[in-house]
This record gives sequence, C-alpha cells and structure tokens, in this order.
Amino acid sequence: MDAVNLLDYDLEGLTAFCEQLGEKRFRATQLFRWIHQKGATDFDQMSDLAKSLRSKLQGVATLKRLSVISEHMSSDGTIKWLFDVGGGNAVESVYIPEDDRATLCISSQAGCAVGCRFCSTGHQGFSRNLSTGEIVAQLWHAEHVLRQRLGTSDRIISNVVMMGMGEPLQNYSALVPALKVMLDDHGYGLSRRRVTVSTSGVVPMIDRLREDCPVALAVSLHAPTDPLRDQLVPLNKKYPIAELLAACNRYLDKAPRDFITFEYCMLQEVNDAPEQAHELVRLLKNKIGCKINLIPFNPFPASGLIRSTHPRVQAFAEVLIQAGIVTTVRKTRGDDIDAACGQLAGEVQDRTRAHIRMVRAPVTVAKSA
Ligand code: SAH
Ligand code: SF4
Repeated sequence: MDAVNLLDYDLEGLTAFCEQLGEKRFRATQLFRWIHQKGATDFDQMSDLAKSLRSKLQGVATLKRLSVISEHMSSDGTIKWLFDVGGGNAVESVYIPEDDRATLCISSQAGCAVGCRFCSTGHQGFSRNLSTGEIVAQLWHAEHVLRQRLGTSDRIISNVVMMGMGEPLQNYSALVPALKVMLDDHGYGLSRRRVTVSTSGVVPMIDRLREDCPVALAVSLHAPTDPLRDQLVPLNKKYPIAELLAACNRYLDKAPRDFITFEYCMLQEVNDAPEQAHELVRLLKNKIGCKINLIPFNPFPASGLIRSTHPRVQAFAEVLIQAGIVTTVRKTRGDDIDAACGQLAGEVQDRTRAHIRMVRAPVTVAKSA
C-alpha cells in the first residue's frame, strides 16, 4: 500500500487517520502543528511524539513536498516558483510581499477547463485537478522556505489568494480541506478575510462554499452583459450573470466581509467603453455589496486581445467611482519575471487536446484583504 501523504489532510482528517493507527486525538494536533507550524519534514524531528508513533508513521505516512523546477525573484521582491506535479505538468505559485502583508497566490489545477479567452492558463486546456496535498504544499513551501531563508520563526504569509492556475471551484473536494488547513489555528492560522477564493462563477459551488467554508470571495466578471460574457468566460452560458449575482448575494449572508470583489480584466475595445462602465453600474449598484478590481490585461500571443490603454482604464474607473462603487486598478507586480496570479503559464499536459503547450505571459498580481 502507498504511504499516505499527510499534507492531504485537514485536522479532522488527520485525527481520523491517527485514530485508525490507535492513537489519541491530541496526537493528531501535535503532528499537524509540527507539519504546518514548524515546517518539519521528517518524523524524527517531532521530538514530543512518542518514538513508537514516529516509527509507526515512517511505515505508513509521508510528507510529500513539491519539487521546484525553477524560482525567479523580481526586482520588486515578488517570487515565482514553478513546481513539478508529475506527468509533464507544472504549476506556479507567486509570493507578493508588501508593506503591511505578504500574499501567496496559489494554483488549484494543472491547466483549466473553463477556457476564458483572455487567460493563458485557459488556452493551455485542462490536465488534472491538484490534490489537497499539492495545494497545501505550495503554501508549506513558501512559508517554510522563506522562514528558513530569512532566519525567522515568525509567520511570513498573511494572505492567500486562489488566483493561480485553475478554477478552484471545479476542484471543490480538494479545495475545501486545503482552505481548512490554511484557516486552522493549529495550521497556518489565517483569518477568513485573508483567504480569497477567486472563481469564474461556478454557481452551485459558490452555494456549497458558503456552507462549508465561507472565505472571502472574488468573482471574475469581465463583462456587464450576458452576450459579451458568454464570449469571454464560456461558463457564463451555463451560469448567466443574473444567477451568478443571486449566488453572490446568498454568499454574502455568511461571508467574512460585506462585499464581493468583482474582477474585470480590461480589454481594449472589447469591454472597456464608458457605456459598458455605465452598464456595470446599472448591474451592480444597490443590488449587491461589491468592490470592483480592474485588471490591466496581460497579453499573450494566442489571445488576439490588447490591453486597454491607461486613459481608457482611468475613464472606466471614473464612471464607477462617480457612481459610488469602490474601484481599484490592480497594480502589476513581478513583470520582469512573468509572475502573476491568474495568468500563470506552467507546463500542462492537456488531456482534452492531447498535446503539450507552453505559454509564457507576464501577469498582474492580486491585491486583496
Ligand atoms: N479561475 C479563477 C482563478 C484563477 S484566474 C478565476 O477565473 O477567477 C485569477 C484572475 O486572473 C481572474 O480574475 C482572471 O480573470 C485573471 N486573468 C486571467 N487571465 C488574465 C490576463 N491575461 N490578464 C489579466 N488578468 C487575467
Ligand atoms: Fe480558468 Fe480562471 Fe483562466 Fe478562466 S480566468 S481559464 S477560469 S484560470
């Protein structure tokens, strides 16, 4: 039997696993703290666990870290890691330090099946879901490698955004335990407000997340009307804007914040006209607690799309702000190393199109919480 990867478990899962081994529940908490808080890589380091338990674990369990293909650091301090997840697939995580926080942007899938027109991950197609352990290992790596490098035992990562490769709500069963590890006081102890799931709008899963693990929610809107959104985010044909906004309103009952962040990628002469800003105002104003985050499009060759000019972005933002909608323009980080959330371009074995593609594109980085 293959050894169990302990990074696959939230505390509840680890407790059940320890009970199966005939161990008391509190042993699971100790083990969990060793793994996530102290970054232990070896059971022998876990000095307050009985020797008998440590040797039991050696036989049946493992801590499966991701192997790093490359690491790039930008002049602004942003770090991008490319991780090998096997089978010709690689995913990326991006660390974004700022004055008052440090955000890690995490991937949830190798590739993505949604296929948004402006997204290089979407253009690569879908290979597979990441496991809980593979999602958690990205945070484990950033937190503990950076602690070691900086010679500190203080917490490094304060915010997580699920804005790397993939659609997190299409990998729901792996996502939720990973979120629980991030939130757990014995794990990374992040507050719900500082963990953001970004989705292209998988309506039934927004409802489930509301029940199971209501963290901050960002929704990739990108268009004020269904005909245009159908073209940009194909999932809109299944879950049109009215249904999506209704789900967002339901989510707000349990959300840790009183607004949803709507992301809007600015595409020259596609969705960036002042009239479209007015349509967006009519769609959202007084209908839902929201903030709008305008993202300058990061072009890549296959997209055939162009980034909106700065004056067009400003004019669009002005309409929203005048209407009283809180609006930010996302700043780009890590441009010199092609790092960013949402536009990451690992290497994906596309199971739907059966060839390997590699696309690299500079991307913008989320600013949340
Ligand atoms: N699948 C999820 C999360 C990953 S994408 C989602 O779509 O929300 C994270 C963010 O990056 C999304 O808002 C997405 O629209 C945005 N994004 C994708 N491609 C981009 C590009 N080329 N330029 C700028 N932002 C992009
Ligand atoms: Fe997938 Fe998000 Fe990219 Fe759309 S924007 S293809 S949902 S990763």
